[in-house]
Amino acid sequence: MMLTMKRTRRKTCPCCGEVFETTRKDKVYLDATHQKHHNNAVQNRKRDKNLSLTKEHTKTYQIFRKLLRNNSDITRSVDFWEGKGADLSLFTGAEMIDGEQTFLLFDLALILNDNFLTIKQL
Ligand SMILES: [Zn+2]
Repeated sequence: MMLTMKRTRRKTCPCCGEVFETTRKDKVYLDATHQKHHNNAVQNRKRDKNLSLTKEHTKTYQIFRKLLRNNSDITRSVDFWEGKGADLSLFTGAEMIDGEQTFLLFDLALILNDNFLTIKQL
């Protein structure tokens, strides 16, 4: 009869830091429960981060929207926008518009000219 030699490995569970011994090379967690807890915690952290990003983007977007109303564009000083509570560092994408790399916040283009920011409906 052939006996397979199994080497015992000492591992540290990533979720709780508990040290355990296993003969399985691919074993990472103490058991399935530990793996599940850890995966859930990672997912929750990711979700919270995305949520807070979206919240900030939406807040600034609503400030732009409110002042734009039905106009196709509106230009105000950076100080004015910041005074309204807009975070001008936020954007959701970038696009070439009239040969210029332009930042976008959802369906609005943000065009910065010195100390003035133009919000333009795309
Ligand atoms: Zn654990």
